Amino acid sequence: MKARIAVLPGDGIGPEVTAAAVSVLRDAAARGGHEFEFSEHAIGGCAIDAHGDPLPAETLIVCKQADAVLLGAVGGPRWSDPKAKVRPEQGLLRLRAELGVYANLRPVRVHPKLAALSPLKNERLTGVDLLFVRELTGGAYFGAKTRTADVATDETKYTTQEVERVARRAFALARGRGRRVTSVDKANVLETSRLWRETVQRVAHEFPDVALEHQLVDSMAMLLLTRPAAYDVIVTENLFGDILTDEAAALAGSLGLLPSASLGDGKVGLYEPIHGSAPDIAGRGVANPLGAILSAAMLLRHSLGLADEAAAIEAAVDRVLDAGVSTRDLGGDAGTREATAAVLAALNERA
Ligand code: ATP
Ligand code: MG
Repeated sequence: MKARIAVLPGDGIGPEVTAAAVSVLRDAAARGGHEFEFSEHAIGGCAIDAHGDPLPAETLIVCKQADAVLLGAVGGPRWSDPKAKVRPEQGLLRLRAELGVYANLRPVRVHPKLAALSPLKNERLTGVDLLFVRELTGGAYFGAKTRTADVATDETKYTTQEVERVARRAFALARGRGRRVTSVDKANVLETSRLWRETVQRVAHEFPDVALEHQLVDSMAMLLLTRPAAYDVIVTENLFGDILTDEAAALAGSLGLLPSASLGDGKVGLYEPIHGSAPDIAGRGVANPLGAILSAAMLLRHSLGLADEAAAIEAAVDRVLDAGVSTRDLGGDAGTREATAAVLAALNERA
């Protein structure tokens, strides 16, 4: 098949980890006889430096026309003055909104070799296999903001249509897994959460084969630490999802391992590791590339329909971790290139 992939390396370790992900995608194309066309574009802090805009028009046009977008990370201390008119993160928020990618998928699995890195006792981690579906284009992050000297507001707004579409996505994904959905809200206090809960409940009737339970976000924060293996798909609004997915990431041992996919109703999806630009280690060749490589696997599965190729990459990453290859964040001394080469070797051994 032919596919156009827009690559947005971004800032900090973004360029290092996206280079690793692109090399794995090139390998998948070569072995499967596919033609992937890659093009690189600016976003975030480097785009502010070069174009005065964290999401230049050219980048947005190419992303909208692509089959998929692979992103590294944006931001860094150079652009983080709170008084600055333009900030790198605005580019990413705008890109998500413009692409209409309202469902952010974050799988969290705990590799047995890495359980010791988790803050939790190992027995609680056996069998942890979560898929977060975070609403990504609504809620407090996109509502109206006001500010006077002493008063600030961030409006949180959700429509039934916004909740329905992300809930449907979560239920549909649950069908391919454990057929259980946990919907997280704060319905005892927030009106948006009451709308959220009623709507998810209604959507559940379309999926009688999937079990639904509701949790309040404060309980869920605790349950992720006390019974993480008890959950399957967890669907929640933008703000709660942001916080809970970082918490869940700690279960896996390192931020550097975890991928994400952001999907809408259109064909183009946005794929990025969940970690940030990690300015403290940027440019040193020590970043863990596995989160970006697993994001490339999600790209193959969700945007290009290449599920077998995606599974092969995920299995190769598992074998690399089994073999004890480990980057600094995992307590080892493998560099970005070494870890990437190990994944490519594992893929080609099997072929
Ligand atoms: P952002 O605000 O962009 O989300 P953040 O403040 O959450 O960023 P990160 O940039 O993700 O933070 O970094 C948090 C810590 O994790 C840093 O010490 C960083 O070096 C480390 N880290 C993040 N990603 C990786 C990676 N891929 N490999 C190794 N270490 C990483
Ligand atoms: Mg962060």
